[in-house]
Amino acid sequence: MPGLTLLRHAAALILLALSAAMLAPVGARAQTSQADFARFLDQDIWPQARAAGISRATFDAAFDGVKPNLKLPDLVLPGQAPAVAEKQHQAEFQSPAAYFREDNLRSVVGQGRTLLARHADTLRAIERRYGVPGPIVLAVWGRESGFGAARIPYNAFEVLGTKAWLARRKDMFRAELIAALQIVQDGHLRVSDMKSSWAGALGQPQFMPSKFRSLAVDFDGDGRADIWNSVPDTLASIAHYLQQSGWVAGRDWGFEANIPDNVSCTLEGPDQGRPIRDFVAAGVTRVSGRPFPTHEAQATGFLMMPAGRMGPAFIATPNFYVIKEYNNSDLYALFIGHAADRMAGGGAFKGGWVDVTGVSRGDVARMQERLQAMGMDVGGVDGLPGFKTRRSIGAYEASAGLRVDCWPNAALKQKLN
Ligand code: CA
Repeated sequence: MPGLTLLRHAAALILLALSAAMLAPVGARAQTSQADFARFLDQDIWPQARAAGISRATFDAAFDGVKPNLKLPDLVLPGQAPAVAEKQHQAEFQSPAAYFREDNLRSVVGQGRTLLARHADTLRAIERRYGVPGPIVLAVWGRESGFGAARIPYNAFEVLGTKAWLARRKDMFRAELIAALQIVQDGHLRVSDMKSSWAGALGQPQFMPSKFRSLAVDFDGDGRADIWNSVPDTLASIAHYLQQSGWVAGRDWGFEANIPDNVSCTLEGPDQGRPIRDFVAAGVTRVSGRPFPTHEAQATGFLMMPAGRMGPAFIATPNFYVIKEYNNSDLYALFIGHAADRMAGGGAFKGGWVDVTGVSRGDVARMQERLQAMGMDVGGVDGLPGFKTRRSIGAYEASAGLRVDCWPNAALKQKLN
């Protein structure tokens, strides 16, 4: 009915006018948010900090002159509904093809080879103590901070304070804020040294404050775990992190593999492990043409297809999922493993990445909602095609008579609309 449409239109205009009128002048708004932030710190954070052993002097020093930074990503500003961000702030949310661009890889691999030679003795000592090979440690260092070259410019208290106040995952950031205060309270660092990324991660290995407290290592023996300035401390801290996450010494991270059609892409995932020799019996081979090492063939492996059938496929080991403890992304873990292999002399992926266009993070989120409504496990609606989403897509494709490739594409988007 046109009349009703007009009425709705008029109502929308009135709402617009109302919300414009409610907006205070910019200066006044900034003052309000600053006052609200100060009240939040004092009434909400301080009692918890005091209970955690933080002195008032430490607390005041940490927040001296700190204002909320409303430009940080992933904040839910007052009056705003949380939504899946269409814009992708972290590179881990890009398409695999973009993530593994050869120039990205080549710079990490090239510098990694130089550093592998330069720090050979340190890396050998680190592998003896923690069981993690040097190239893996270097690849993490390269990925996290460009081997220490990346600027880490933010005041950690500004970032963590703002995020504890307004981020989507407030509780996690509140715990990290308390941990950051404890680092200063314990005398590890001065307030002015607490520099972080926009996400609150510290130093060259990009540890959240709680990880710094439990995992940072003094490997050069000067009495301080200095992950901002010391290369041995940085490298050993990364290795310690992986060891504590369950790294299995002596095992690889994984192997690029040919997956025949009779092995379904829906068999992917860390909860569907089986002896690698079972995959071999089903026809899986390494792309290198070499057999799986005997000790690996006997042990557990996992099908890992980060772009479904639209990219290279892998038989991963438990160490692949240990790397994901550092950064919970298949693409991240694969980048680390692959870059490490290439530092040690390995070549590029044999399989090519098909860049699927026309599917945004928002599209993936809508597909996930539909699949979830059908009772499928997509691992949460987040717009990211993780392994649970990929294999549910594959199961749906099979049931709908589509080509089973376990990857979101335009045909699936249309079918699910
Ligand atoms: Ca040290």
